[in-house]
Amino acid sequence: MNSLERLISSANGEPIDCVPVAPSIGHYAAFRAREPMTKVAYDPELMARVVLESLERHNYDTCCPITDYGVGTENMGSTSVIRDWEQTFVSEFAVQSKVDIAGLKIPDPLKDGRMPVAIECGQILLDKVGEQVGVSCGISGPLSFAANLRGPQQILEDILLDPVLVHELLKISQEALKSFGEALIIHGGITTISIYEPMATLISTPQAEEFSFVYMESLIKKLKESGAFTILLHICGDTTRFLDRAVGIGVNILSLDRDVDLAKAKEIVAGRATISGNVATQNLFCGSSDEIYAESCRCIESAALGGRYALGSSCEVPLETREENIDAMVRAARKFGAEFLQTGRGKELKEFSH
Ligand SMILES: [Zn+2]
Repeated sequence: MNSLERLISSANGEPIDCVPVAPSIGHYAAFRAREPMTKVAYDPELMARVVLESLERHNYDTCCPITDYGVGTENMGSTSVIRDWEQTFVSEFAVQSKVDIAGLKIPDPLKDGRMPVAIECGQILLDKVGEQVGVSCGISGPLSFAANLRGPQQILEDILLDPVLVHELLKISQEALKSFGEALIIHGGITTISIYEPMATLISTPQAEEFSFVYMESLIKKLKESGAFTILLHICGDTTRFLDRAVGIGVNILSLDRDVDLAKAKEIVAGRATISGNVATQNLFCGSSDEIYAESCRCIESAALGGRYALGSSCEVPLETREENIDAMVRAARKFGAEFLQTGRGKELKEFSH
């Protein structure tokens, strides 16, 4: 069973040989390959090479181009900070006042900034390993995209004081994301799109509905009409309150942060979607490989029975994570995961750790 077959069978609740494992690998791949992000971010072939090197090194089941919240927003006037050995972030925001909204233009995903890099990197990954592993690409959720046009702190204030402005920004963000997503699907050939919407967890459930889920629903509908087969959603923090709604808007994979109880999530989702998670990224960064192995086994015990589960990291894997910690996750999915799926029982975790 190759990685792709394993992912598909797991999503369908069919028998699998071991537990799929899909750590959220981004900048880590470039860091580990000792290739500076200032080069990788602009060179689709180099990006594909570092992504494939990491895949080959660790042998997990999925891969994707390296994206961040600057992709797209930087072409509308925000400023991304791309440094060689750091996570990319947005430092200055396009919309300082209401009048700036009128000047926003939807960028061309085939020409502008780093969007073409992600699309071309996606094509290369699909060509090289698309028949063996799951290839996806990440985009922002609408509220998180808008937050990187306006500033995360400012948009939280706007939600309370000027909701009309936020809706205007969201409409433009949604259009930009639909255009980028469509290009990834049609020109890149990518059929799994991962949506990252960390802003949703910073606001109340009714606010998240009004300022995120309504727009995400429309975005997902468009992506699926364009040919997307699978939509993954990642929201940071305890997202238990959102899970049922996320399934309702067409999310197929819920990537869960460390605060979510996997067994409870699986109960809520009730076979309507796959869940993935949630080895804590803090532990991947600081913990020992034995600790990561034990934590991975606990995740598997909580959620792997019956399939529709992939062992994953709780958020993007930190750059300086030690390789043996990713190896420990993969080993737990392959070795302990296979045993657990066969017997339905956890064993003494230590017995399996080496
Ligand atoms: Zn996260």
